Amino acid sequence: MDLGISGKRALVCASSKGLGFGCAQALAREGVSLVMNARTEGPLLDAAEVIRAETGVDVVTVAADITSEEGRAEVLKATGEVDILVTNAGGPPPGMWSDWSRDDFIDAFDANLLTPIALMQALMPGMMERGWGRVVNITSVSVKAPIAVLGLSNTARTGLTGFVAGTARQVAGQGVIINNLLPGLHDTDRAAALDKGATEAQGITLDEARAQRMATIPSGRYGTKEEFGATCAFMCSQHAGFMVGQNVLLDGGATNTTL
Ligand code: NAP
Repeated sequence: MDLGISGKRALVCASSKGLGFGCAQALAREGVSLVMNARTEGPLLDAAEVIRAETGVDVVTVAADITSEEGRAEVLKATGEVDILVTNAGGPPPGMWSDWSRDDFIDAFDANLLTPIALMQALMPGMMERGWGRVVNITSVSVKAPIAVLGLSNTARTGLTGFVAGTARQVAGQGVIINNLLPGLHDTDRAAALDKGATEAQGITLDEARAQRMATIPSGRYGTKEEFGATCAFMCSQHAGFMVGQNVLLDGGATNTTL
């Protein structure tokens, strides 16, 4: 299927690895030129080179913390106008509801709520003026089904979900389509870190920890960043123009809900 976005330009945040990289690569494969971002320069330059070598698209890189005001300003300066925005950042750490301080909540809100909102506020007016835009926010399965130890994530990301639900309907008439993409367990460094946490907490091997978690997924495996990226690219495509304010869950069936 031709996604109809060849020649468009996208900002993909937090994209040197993992799900963000999967999205950047899938968009590049459709002929979309990229602004890629991550905090650490070396892996970001390597990731950009992999994508340039494979697809030949133009890739600009900005090494900056997307969750800080200064980092965002740097990214937005290099970005200029874009047609597609994919928001992403690292997720908050696990913990216990009774331990989290006001500062812990503020950090989580900055990273996973206020940063995507600030990026949409900066880039959507241009999209609306030009009459075409796509925004995909990478959130989490935790907005559908809470993950208790990730309470900071549950709280910040459901806030973003509420913002998108209203805003998506305010901008759709000007051709700007906002949706959220909700990862369940995917095979990335983040998943490996959670597996490692389980080995330490339960005194089991890494293979046992992975097997234990995979057994909770009807598909019997983790998702891949390629599958995730392909879904993101579709949500950024011409064909997604009637899909407004949706929360698309990619979790191998792990969330046991009818709707
Ligand atoms: P990952 O493999 O650890 O990759 C994270 C990427 O984001 C890296 O490129 C990292 O590069 C970049 N990054 C992190 N913090 C950043 C910041 N403040 N500014 C700019 N770039 C930043 O993680 P992932 O698995 O792809 O996860 C992506 C998001 O999906 C996270 O929010 C995670 O909580 C959520 N999620 C993931 C899963 C899963 O199973 N993988 C499930 C549910 C939700 P640098 O470190 O160099 O900045």
